[in-house]
Amino acid sequence: MSLDALLQQAAQRLQRAGSSSPRVDAEVLLCHVLGRDRTWLYTWGDKMCSLWEQARFEALVAARAQGTPVAYLTGEREFWGLRLATSPDTLIPRPDTETLVELALSSVNQPTGRMLDLGTGTGAIALAFASEQPDWQVLGVDLRFEAVALANQNAHSLGITNARFLQSDWFAVLESYDEVGTLFDIIVSNPPYIAADDPHLAEGDVRFEPRSALVADACGMADLLHLVNTAQRYLTASGWLLLEHGYQQADVVREALERAGYQNVESVRDLGGHERVTLGHL
Ligand code: GLN
Repeated sequence: MSLDALLQQAAQRLQRAGSSSPRVDAEVLLCHVLGRDRTWLYTWGDKMCSLWEQARFEALVAARAQGTPVAYLTGEREFWGLRLATSPDTLIPRPDTETLVELALSSVNQPTGRMLDLGTGTGAIALAFASEQPDWQVLGVDLRFEAVALANQNAHSLGITNARFLQSDWFAVLESYDEVGTLFDIIVSNPPYIAADDPHLAEGDVRFEPRSALVADACGMADLLHLVNTAQRYLTASGWLLLEHGYQQADVVREALERAGYQNVESVRDLGGHERVTLGHL
């Protein structure tokens, strides 16, 4: 069968299975099997593929039809133009989170400094920031060892040497002998912020992502409020705190930051027009 015919068949199957982006899913999976990019596929769609390639592709399409996220099937996702390895141990980096990276970069007002990313997952935010600010030192922490290993692997394969990753329950590692007294100019986090009973958790890719990266107590606010109330100890005198949150949480996060003494507090919208990131400085 030609690549075009194979793609069309797969896209129809994924559409019936309820994928919101059936054609793109099929193209990305076929590119993964062939080791080619999508431009190649558009040029050579009338080529035939081998039976072995077809079988591998069909197995991936079947897993996708069951709901498995494309990023877990291919083991990678692009974020901020960086190709990141992904795994079911971490959240899949989302385009919305690039808003947080943009804002962190625009808070930079000195050539060198320290940036901390809490709950770094694949390392997406930390690595995007580090790649843009090579003279800054970036630390990413995550509760899960598997995430820390993946983030380190991503730093290594991207050749980013100014970001390192440690296992830590939020700020805990900063109390250890080697790190005590370290202050940061910028602290960012995309913490879990979804309420345990949110129906969104039963739809699409989130069903396959680690709950610990998505769900927080107190209607999704527990970790956000913990970070607002503890970050100050680890920030420099006019340091910035930037937090991603749910689109209905902006008011509460803004109030909490103001109460904790942050200045120029504001919320910024993501690409979908939702208030997604709130930031302020000491
Ligand atoms: N924005 C993600 C979603 O709604 C959740 C990310 C998070 O909880 N930090 O799927």
